[in-house]
Amino acid sequence: MPVQAPQDIPSQADSGLHWRNRFAALGPAFYTRLMPQPLPAPHWVARSQAMARELGLAPEWLDSPAALAVFSGNQGLAGSEPLASVYSGHQFGVWAGQLGDGRAILLGELLTPDGRGLELQLKGSGRTPYSRMGDGRAVLRSSIREFLCSEAMHALGIPSSRALCVTGSPAPVRREEIETAAVVTRVAPSFIRFGHFEHFSYSGQHEQLRALADFVIDAFYPDCRAGSGFKGNAYAALLEAVSARTAAMVAQWQAVGFCHGVMNTDNMSILGLTIDYGPFQFLDGFDPGHICNHSDPQGRYAYHRQPNIAYWNLFCLGQALLPLIEEQELALAALEPYKAVFPRELDARMGAKLGLQDAAPQDRELTESILQLMAKERVDYTIFWRRLSRHVAGEPVDAVRDLFLDRAGFDDWLGRFRERSTGLASAEQSARMLAVNPKYVLRNHLGEVAIRAAKLGDFSEVERLLALLEHPFDEQPGMDAYAGFPPDWASSIAISCSS
Ligand code: AMP
Ligand code: MG
Repeated sequence: MPVQAPQDIPSQADSGLHWRNRFAALGPAFYTRLMPQPLPAPHWVARSQAMARELGLAPEWLDSPAALAVFSGNQGLAGSEPLASVYSGHQFGVWAGQLGDGRAILLGELLTPDGRGLELQLKGSGRTPYSRMGDGRAVLRSSIREFLCSEAMHALGIPSSRALCVTGSPAPVRREEIETAAVVTRVAPSFIRFGHFEHFSYSGQHEQLRALADFVIDAFYPDCRAGSGFKGNAYAALLEAVSARTAAMVAQWQAVGFCHGVMNTDNMSILGLTIDYGPFQFLDGFDPGHICNHSDPQGRYAYHRQPNIAYWNLFCLGQALLPLIEEQELALAALEPYKAVFPRELDARMGAKLGLQDAAPQDRELTESILQLMAKERVDYTIFWRRLSRHVAGEPVDAVRDLFLDRAGFDDWLGRFRERSTGLASAEQSARMLAVNPKYVLRNHLGEVAIRAAKLGDFSEVERLLALLEHPFDEQPGMDAYAGFPPDWASSIAISCSS
């Protein structure tokens, strides 16, 4: 399929937005300029008003036919400079060579009313020079999942790419069966991945590698310029800073029970954001070895492996940055802090889930023992933490104790937890707990119900879920059914890389 040249686009919708497009300014070695491929008969599936407000998009413009045309890839947007970027990556532990935005197009970087730059990217907008055997499209179900989870993660306080909207089209897309096309508009300060660095490093384009690293440092890690702690080596400092952000992000995943599913190096954000939502899952029953990706039978990306895989990926990034860091010792030294930062971040998150105000030596044992008890009985992860919070808030203990068959084991743990909580005002402790232990997460079955309705043309459940997940810590009376145990059929939902 030929790729459309920019000048072929008939018109440019004027939204009155301001752009600065710093990625485009890096130059043609980093991307191919091209326009999205149009989709027939587009319609809205979902929009995030919160995201629109942050971007400074006028509500009346977002309601206009021009906006629908823009976000389905059928019309240009004045000021944007559409492009697909090139990157490489390690997939499932193996060097995969050149990849790139095979179905995503970066429209450009918008200047928001509060002075930030946020990039807009259309995903599912047609073939690019990096599509390889793919069709450049995304299906409705996976686009809805990415849209909802992006906004849900943000509301949970977890660093993530965001999503502005999803548009759909009756255009058929072949996966295991024939489905329909959709485009999700993603938003992030940058979509640069570890794989971008790997690309320019392993292909010997070291001038571009340096330009990319300098851009990332100047734009997002200005403190690394000083290079403190790394003998003035800004690139080692960058590696250390990315490691710290990645450690903090993965600690949050572990604490909330989130499995990413495809932690390939091309899916790792240089900003430590959760990106590329595919077969992700929030745990139902607590199973440390849980594999959420049907295409990962070995469990490389199982829940409990995520922290180590992140470190492995950072090692790949360090390898890619070696031509700039120059000294291997220095690169290794920059990676070393991950081993301390990750446990510290995780301890802090788990301590917060228990409503503790400070760290004590026995806390690690306290969290590990309850997790072991939960693993033994596959106790529902989200429900346990929320019920424990409500118990500390004054509700009878039965609701949380009844989650366990091993009552004696639970009572023993509860006794130790109470002892550790001595001296804490329970109103404040429970308030802290309720602010970090969500009542609502995007469980697979909730997404599935919304997707089934959406396939029949009813998008109201997508809208309801978005509204719900924008406030995951609020009680939201009347919505309890969304906070309940998963139905039996939930365990039969198989989510693969196919999207
Ligand atoms: P993912 O596993 O979704 O992160 O994708 C890995 C690589 O495959 C990236 O380079 C994607 O752009 C590309 N890709 C995935 N699906 C498609 C598709 N349907 N068409 C073209 N490229 C794709
Ligand atoms: Mg990807």
